[in-house]
Amino acid sequence: MSRDIELQCRCGKVHGWLRGASPNAVNRAVCYCADCQAFLHHLGRADLLDEHGGSDIVQVAPSAVSFDRGDEFIAALRLTPGGLYRWYATCCKTPLGNTLKPRLPFVGIVTDLFQHAPGALPSDEIFGAPSGRIWGKFAIGEPPPGSVKPNVRFLAHTVRKLLGWKLRGETWPHPFFDRASGNPKYPITVLSTAERDALRPLCGPRPASA
Ligand SMILES: [Zn+2]
Ligand SMILES: [Zn+2]
Repeated sequence: MSRDIELQCRCGKVHGWLRGASPNAVNRAVCYCADCQAFLHHLGRADLLDEHGGSDIVQVAPSAVSFDRGDEFIAALRLTPGGLYRWYATCCKTPLGNTLKPRLPFVGIVTDLFQHAPGALPSDEIFGAPSGRIWGKFAIGEPPPGSVKPNVRFLAHTVRKLLGWKLRGETWPHPFFDRASGNPKYPITVLSTAERDALRPLCGPRPASA
């Protein structure tokens, strides 16, 4: 069964929709990579990481995502000049979605974004359980089972999903890029090397605080 699911930042200023959500329409994984951890630490939202530093993320087609409120609060952070665009709500620092350029059409959304609208359903009910745990070598403490070695089945699934979205024309309309110019629609900040380095001790596998 597919559903239209509301997206909402923690404070409610940014609101939108994920259309046609179902376990089959998405790719859900928990990512332990150092960059996902660094991003949430930089935002001051480490509360969204699980006890091993994991981010619970669903990848969806860009055209399935739209925002209808709070455009003025949308911005992106890049940890390095060539890194992912990590979109977030500037009002309350809620992650809104990770993307590359539209050439590689996907939006990876931290599932917290689906939990703030009134009557929100549990993520497991909307998307099914995560089908992969990846980049476990950066996990905090004991890496979760199956997360360290490259997960070939999961990788193949990801590539299949991405290709499908591309071939079916589900890149556009893109929630974060303008079709005519190909440019980002919202402000971008790139971290300096010093800012990026300052975040490293906070991220796995052995956080300085441990
Ligand atoms: Zn907000
Ligand atoms: Zn990651």
